Amino acid sequence: MSFQATMTMAGKSSSICANCRNADAFATVRNRPLCQPCFLRYADNKCSSGMKQYRMLGDAAKTRKQHKHLLPLSFGASSSVLLHMINGQVEHQLAGPLRFTNYDVHVLVVDPSTISPSRPPCQKQFDLVRQHYPRHKYTMIPLHSIFEYDPNISETLRQIAGSGFGDDESKPYRERLEAFRASIPTTTSKDDIDNILLFRLIVAFARHHACETILWGDSDTRLAAKTLANVAKGRGASLTWQVRDGPTPWGLEFIFPLRELYRTELEQYAKLVPTVESIVIPDPPASEALSNRDLSIDELLNNYVLTQGVKYPGIMANVVRTVNKLQPAGFTSDQARCVLCTSPIEPDNHGADGAEAFDFDVRNAPTQFCYGCRRSAAGLSQAADT
Ligand SMILES: [Zn+2]
Ligand SMILES: [Zn+2]
Repeated sequence: MSFQATMTMAGKSSSICANCRNADAFATVRNRPLCQPCFLRYADNKCSSGMKQYRMLGDAAKTRKQHKHLLPLSFGASSSVLLHMINGQVEHQLAGPLRFTNYDVHVLVVDPSTISPSRPPCQKQFDLVRQHYPRHKYTMIPLHSIFEYDPNISETLRQIAGSGFGDDESKPYRERLEAFRASIPTTTSKDDIDNILLFRLIVAFARHHACETILWGDSDTRLAAKTLANVAKGRGASLTWQVRDGPTPWGLEFIFPLRELYRTELEQYAKLVPTVESIVIPDPPASEALSNRDLSIDELLNNYVLTQGVKYPGIMANVVRTVNKLQPAGFTSDQARCVLCTSPIEPDNHGADGAEAFDFDVRNAPTQFCYGCRRSAAGLSQAADT
């Protein structure tokens, strides 16, 4: 898996590292043979340039002003590598002449076993990561704590689930979330809504703790898959916020410091660094055993990009670069928001267009959904699947 077109093992007739010319290459990375230290440095530099505007100390050392970053950690290879790299940048600043870091990093783990019961508990990894990188703040919360952090969520659930679902506020959060999820008909809708709930929880948590930015661990590969999936699900309008560096409608900035690194490169990095390797929870076995029918659009496109992306990495990188250059639609604080994904709604994008053909509750609701959420909320994808 890890040594594919983008990254191949150096042959036995070992070539010399093209960077330092001083050691045997261990792999060919984007057509250049590199030794292990040079590969790690190459990857670190990509992340470092992704953080460029936030790591410049400038006057910050005098004013002792720190920038509050939230780093969501899933214990996948990408976000684990991101934490390691960000920690490296903090250590580097502290070792410098100013002995000061302008990063104030809060690591958030949304317990993966509360997102999907098929994922193992991660308490061991959570303890380990705090030992390995003790300079940062850490919090682990379950997905259903969204009821605590996002005051609008119960209203949202009522709106989207329609008449078949009654949110019983006397029940514990966990049961309320389970009841809601059970009311969603299709795999794609379930997955899509789970992703939105996770996103809303992370954003609400960041706001609650007055973070100024969220550092997302998405690789180039993941951003390409997200781009394609969002277009396929009719979420093109909110796409730019989810893949592009910069300000967002949620009052925080999003940064994707790993946007220039391929997933295979991050997996390789994770294997080479023992502290990272010890915290990564391997992905569940690929969904190959399942038929495509059982996969959500997200899973399908993830698989697609993983298999095609290694054959044509340049194309995937282009997708991501192009999207990063898109100018986001302007937004104002009083603009109508989608009740589910909370993206601003384009004035011409919340009418009943396309909805007439389908009989579902949200059409008559006074609240507004973006096009993508109308599809998910109504289980339109179920109609499309059959
Ligand atoms: Zn080298
Ligand atoms: Zn929406």
